[in-house]
Amino acid sequence: MLEILLFILVSVLTGKIEVGEEITLTVDTEKRHDTARNHTATHLLMASLRQVLGNHVEQAGSLVAPARLRFDFTHFQAVTPDELNRIEELINEKYRKMSCSMDYHRYGKSP
Ligand SMILES: [Zn+2]
Repeated sequence: MLEILLFILVSVLTGKIEVGEEITLTVDTEKRHDTARNHTATHLLMASLRQVLGNHVEQAGSLVAPARLRFDFTHFQAVTPDELNRIEELINEKYRKMSCSMDYHRYGKSP
């Protein structure tokens, strides 16, 4: 049997929690989905950066939040406007393919 150990960091805003106390947590699903989409976007960005700039590109940090993401990466020089356009085009292409694929799985329609 597969056991999953889950750690959740919480902030207690009022009152306090005792050891062994049973609590109920709720997830803000809208925020969670927004964060998940931005997380996916970091993967699309990384793949596109490597396609355009080269395989030497490495992730150097990131911040993924519901309303935005920041992605730090290594490269030898500033990204040119043309490279940036190509990166954006690739991300959008990959996203469109993903969306079609998700529609296929969701609705059984061919992409
Ligand atoms: Zn990931």
